[in-house]
Formats: sequence, structure tokens, C-alpha cells
Amino acid sequence: MSTLHSPPRAPPAREGRRGRRAAHGNAGTGAPAEVNRNAGARLGRALDLYEYQGKKLFARFGIPVSEGRLADSPEQASAAVAELGGPVVVKAQVLTGGRGKAGGIKLAADESEAEARARDILGLDIRGHVVRTLWIEKASDIAREYYLSLTFDRSARKPLYMFTTQGGVDIEEVAESSPDALVRLHVDPLEGFHPWQARRLVYTAGVADAGEQKQIAAIVGRLYEAFVACDAMLCEINPLIVTPDGEVRALDSKFTVDDNALYRHPDIAEMRDTAAADPLEALAREKHVTYVKLDGEVGVLGNGAGLSMSSVDVVTFAGGRPANFCDLGGGGDAQGVVDALSVITHDPQVKAIFFNIFGGITRCDEVARGILQALSEMTIDLPIVVRLDGTNAEEGRRILSEAAPSNLHVEPTMLEAARKAVELAT
Ligand code: GDP
Ligand code: MN
Repeated sequence: MSTLHSPPRAPPAREGRRGRRAAHGNAGTGAPAEVNRNAGARLGRALDLYEYQGKKLFARFGIPVSEGRLADSPEQASAAVAELGGPVVVKAQVLTGGRGKAGGIKLAADESEAEARARDILGLDIRGHVVRTLWIEKASDIAREYYLSLTFDRSARKPLYMFTTQGGVDIEEVAESSPDALVRLHVDPLEGFHPWQARRLVYTAGVADAGEQKQIAAIVGRLYEAFVACDAMLCEINPLIVTPDGEVRALDSKFTVDDNALYRHPDIAEMRDTAAADPLEALAREKHVTYVKLDGEVGVLGNGAGLSMSSVDVVTFAGGRPANFCDLGGGGDAQGVVDALSVITHDPQVKAIFFNIFGGITRCDEVARGILQALSEMTIDLPIVVRLDGTNAEEGRRILSEAAPSNLHVEPTMLEAARKAVELAT
């Protein structure tokens, strides 16, 4: 298929999705990056980093951050304060925002207080994310809280800066209540970043102090370097603080890296917390299967991203609930089918499988043989409904009808196959 390696552009929305933070597809609509924190799956095409990991990358590019230590027990939190000196801030490390409001960020004056706060926060469930790790950071005195981010504006095909002096709070609130306070500025990726752009951001947002202007402008430039060098999709600092002494520092970080570029960033790839990820998606990643867990009972498998998306839709249209999105990519090669089916059937919610194939360059007879070979290599008791259409469809269907096991049904159209699968799943 021609769609072989192209990832879906608009992956299926996924309810109750966890473990993902800011989505970026909305940048072009004028909404800030943070708006769709949990919007939809992104098919594992992005790696969200924890605050402390993002800050480590910030520091690498010269963006000032506070000194801190990791802790995963109250005792370690106390030991961290012994090293850092108090007061500190005890910060839950979870891949979701708004930790402060949820009680996941607490100040502590000394070792015993840090130990107590760590005891409170460890194990806390913040919107489905259980806190296992803390970042203990030297507390900052805050005079002002600003917001700075760099993300992709897909519709403009350019990186987009957003900056406002009304930081600290949810940026979507700022975007709604005082949109004029949010300064937006594109960078032409071919020309790269120019220092005047940083100055324009700072002046337009109304930063009056010359010392602040200078420091923020420098941070703006370094953020671009970090963004490009790390193949980031989002770099967000909220809040970017000014201390009473006039020092500017990143107090939080949200850093998302493009999965497709991780091969050239082995150090960042290692930051992935596989334990926090959905186990099925982790399995899929291991097997190089493009898979997104959904909530229903009908396992869905298609060849090509677009067709796989349509397959999810048509199951819903037929009155069923898709259990997943899964794109077989181009082929009907048996190993690919085995891998995809093994991921799909790992989900105990799956009651039937809808296999939607359109033969293009890959002919249906090849796919049919691939399916048969796959089913000879693994035992699947669930009903499987196959829709085969396109090049050599008739021969493919004949091959399947002649040799397939009794739990495999062949249907000529997508809708009929989806209906059948939905019926068999209930
Ligand atoms: P978020 O709620 O997940 O975005 O977590 P942040 O790291 O942004 O922290 C939330 C809020 O806690 C910040 O906006 C600050 O107001 C406050 N905070 C975080 N670190 C410090 C600190 O070192 N000192 C003080 N005074 N407040 C802090
Ligand atoms: Mn924040």
C-alpha cells in the first residue's frame, strides 16, 4: 500500500486517555498548546518527559533551572534536603499538568517537613497518575510568573512561540480571558531563529525591566536551540519566574519529543518510563505494531492508516465499540499479521476481530495467504471477520473460504464485515 509508512494524521480520540500531556495539533486553531492536554491519542508518536527530565535538557541548553534531587521515598526526600539545604519544594513527577492544584506540589522548610510532604504526595493519584517519584528542588522566591512555550503550528508549518506575563495559571484561561496578553510569534524553520524575535516577544508582552528583557530574550533563543536539537514537539515553561532579585528561571517544564527522531537521541529515548505506559501499547511498540488502545470490544485491524481509521469509524457506525486502532502498514506478510493479532488479542476486552483489507500494491491473495499462515502459527478462538477488497479480491476470498478455520468469516464489504463483527462481539 502507498500508505505503508505514513502515520495517521488525525488519530482516533480516546476517552480517559492517560499518560499524555499537551497535544499540539490545536496550535493552528489559535488555541495554546496546553489546551488539549489529554486530547486524543497520538499513536505513540511522541515522548512526554517528566518535569525533571525536561529541566535536565533545559539546563543542557543553558536555560536556568533550580538545583534538585530525585526521591522515591520520604527518607530520600529528607536526604535530598540535607544536601540541598532548605527550604525546598516537593514536586510530584507525573505526566499530567495541574499538579499544584491537585496537591502534588508542596513547600517544605526543612528535612522533617520534606519527609512529611513526601509521605503525603507519594502514592497520590493525580487524575489517574499515581505518584511514584518526587523531584525535590531548592525553593524559589517568586516575584512574577510568566509563560513561555514553543510548539508546532501545523497549519502554518512553523514553530510557534507563545509568551505572556500572565503565567503560572492555566494558559488556556489566559487565552480565553485576555487573549491580547498572549503574544504569538512564528519562526521560519528555514531561516531559523533571529534574536529580534525574542525582543519582539518580550516587548510586545510588556516586560518593562531591562534585566528581565535580556534574560528572557536569551532563554527564548536557547529554547529554540533545545527544541530543534532535541526534535521536540513542545517545550513549555510555566511558570517562567522572576525572583525578587530579578533573576529569571524555569520553574516547571513540559517537554515532548517526536518519537520518529528518537533514534538519533538515545539519551532521550532512555528517558521513557515504560512502566507508566499502557502495557498493551508498550507491547505494541516492542513488536513495532502501530496500535492505540481504545475502550470497546471489537478488535480492529486494517492495512494503511486511513483505512484503519475508517475501520474504527465503521465499527462505531455499525453500533459497536472499537477495542483499538491498529495499522498493519503495507503488507499481508504473515509475521506482521501475527504481531498485530497477538497485540490485539492480548486485550481481554476483545470479543471479535474485524480485519479490514484493501488490496492495492499488496494483492488480496497475498494477504489471504498471510492471514492463513498467521492463523496456523497462533491459536485464536475469537471470531474473526475479514473484509477483502481491491486487487485480486475474489481470489483472496476464495483462498480464505477454502482453507480458513471455522471462526473466520469473509465478507465482501466494509460495512457488512463491521456489522458481522459487532454482532459476533455481543
Ligand atoms: P503544575 O501545577 O503541574 O504546573 O506545577 P508547577 O511546577 O508549575 O508548580 C505549580 C505552582 O507551584 C507554580 O506556579 C508556583 O506557584 C508554585 N511553585 C512551584 N515551585 C515553587 C517554588 O520553588 N517556590 C514557590 N514559592 N512556589 C513554587
Ligand atoms: Mn506548571
